[in-house]
Amino acid sequence: MRDFILGQTGIKVSELCFGALPMGPLQKKMEPAAGAEIILQALAGGINFIDTAQLYQTYEPIRLALHKCAVRPVIASKSMALEAEGMTTAIEECLRQLEIDYIDIFHLHAARVPEGEDVFKTRAGAWQVMLDYKEKGLIKAIGISTHSVPAVQLAAENNEVDIVFPIINRTGIGILNGTLEEMEKAIEKCRQHGKGVYLMKALGGGCLVNEYHAAVSFVRERFSLPIAMGMVNSREVEYNLAYFNTAADKLNTLPELVIEEKCFQVVDFICKDCGQCIETCPNHAISKLAPESKPVINPDLCLRCGYCVGFCPQFAIRMT
Ligand code: SF4
Ligand code: SF4
Repeated sequence: MRDFILGQTGIKVSELCFGALPMGPLQKKMEPAAGAEIILQALAGGINFIDTAQLYQTYEPIRLALHKCAVRPVIASKSMALEAEGMTTAIEECLRQLEIDYIDIFHLHAARVPEGEDVFKTRAGAWQVMLDYKEKGLIKAIGISTHSVPAVQLAAENNEVDIVFPIINRTGIGILNGTLEEMEKAIEKCRQHGKGVYLMKALGGGCLVNEYHAAVSFVRERFSLPIAMGMVNSREVEYNLAYFNTAADKLNTLPELVIEEKCFQVVDFICKDCGQCIETCPNHAISKLAPESKPVINPDLCLRCGYCVGFCPQFAIRMT
């Protein structure tokens, strides 16, 4: 498998990054020991890069895997904290729960702000904490994960940013405040400014899973950058490893990957109509069709990220 150095950080990662979101309680709800086995399979196959987040609640399977692997992988995590106190808690939690001495990469998670605002100003307290932990050597590189074109543009121009983790895919699903073409330009701008970049949602969170080859090859050929992909079972790990280890001119010979499609729904009779999921959804996929109705999820906009699941106080959003 190819590997890449992320910008000017010196951090060397495999082209395929193990996305730890789907195994956690927001989606598959795997037992930590079972999740750890999947991670170990991926690491044994040549992946050395794991992407997780405070929100994903997947530190435990990663910790279990770290205990069993000879070489420590690169670990990226992130927090949605808006202020200093929440960010301090998030970073300490990451260090403690993973039982590690330092975090390779830490992001401002979901760095999305309306056009015209600056996420590094609106979340200045949280960002300063990340800078302080980097100064102390407890974080090696800092950055943002985002669906927002203006946030990627801002990150490119910010000298304090080491790494940017934006969404990109061939249909542009999930890109906020701009077009696919504008996101491509923003990513290129990051590269020109020496930022390390790795990419999320090449499969649109699962929306493009039935066109795996077209979707993944679009991102690989267009950008030649590491790509994070969620994996929840042995078959997916095997397929992804085979795909990323196969020469470009032989990819058409691989069978198509069969992945279960996932779908998120609000369970109407459990929902208390608090509206928190509407605020949380990164792609504005949840709305009320009438003032008196409960929220519904638009499958055409849903990225299958499961973030709304974690924010619903009633556990009324289920993956089916
Ligand atoms: S409704 Fe929104 S938050 Fe929920 S899974 Fe879909 S994209 Fe994610
Ligand atoms: S967060 Fe949960 S309870 Fe609140 S409106 Fe959404 S589904 Fe209903």
